[in-house]
Amino acid sequence: MVLALALTAELIGVTSLRPLDDASNPFSYTFKVQCTSCRETHPNFVTLNRHETHEQSGSRGEANFVWKCKNCKREHSANIKAPPVPYEQSEPPKRVNILEFDCRGLEFLEFKPEGEFLATGIESNTPFTGIDLSEGEWYEYDEKAGEEVSIKEVKWEIRRA
Ligand SMILES: [Zn+2]
Repeated sequence: MVLALALTAELIGVTSLRPLDDASNPFSYTFKVQCTSCRETHPNFVTLNRHETHEQSGSRGEANFVWKCKNCKREHSANIKAPPVPYEQSEPPKRVNILEFDCRGLEFLEFKPEGEFLATGIESNTPFTGIDLSEGEWYEYDEKAGEEVSIKEVKWEIRRA
């Protein structure tokens, strides 16, 4: 099953919102995860990143995320299919799939935006780093544009791709 992490957000003065996620700064994507065999939900949030793989039992190769369900003892896995898609500013805000996962025997239920995000000033091209979206909003001042910039109404959804 392919699941997508979809983002909807109101961007004012900035665009190209994306997680800082490259080989030297891998982004840890944090999720609630559920076993699709027995519907057990992992008690804690789990993290995965697309630059790291883990061995699966048997000869099933490696995956970005491997989880053995404590309840039914089955082993499940997930892979991130491609780098995250930057979220572009639009009015009204659009819902965009920014990341896709190939999930085997598990489902992600909820995303927790922990980690650093980046964005770019629309007119000024000013790079913004260290954006924290854990509170669902972000405010900054773009010196070059002489304007306040912000990210608001941040909504994350997990849906079938
Ligand atoms: Zn299970």
